[in-house]
Amino acid sequence: MTFRLTCPVCGKRDVYEFTYGGPERGPRPAETDLDGGAEGHFRWSQFRMNRPEPREEWWHHGAGCGVWFSTWRDPATNRETRPGGAEASGDSASGGDSP
Ligand SMILES: [Zn+2]
Repeated sequence: MTFRLTCPVCGKRDVYEFTYGGPERGPRPAETDLDGGAEGHFRWSQFRMNRPEPREEWWHHGAGCGVWFSTWRDPATNRETRPGGAEASGDSASGGDSP
């Protein structure tokens, strides 16, 4: 199955040009802020919910401009729900920001 994503620099491209970086989860919490201490931190870092509903995700345009960006996509339909609505961060020359 293929679908297209909207790179904020290059525009719509085939998904095969991109690498999935995972869902946006906000800033990394301190270990002491999670229930269960170290085990809670392990669960936060290793387990992700994969609900069939639109969510913000990180993508890297490795076969294009090299930018990391976030976009909203519905994994049930593979359609972007807010294409180009997220801001780009970094570029290939500076190494960019990874998720
Ligand atoms: Zn691009």
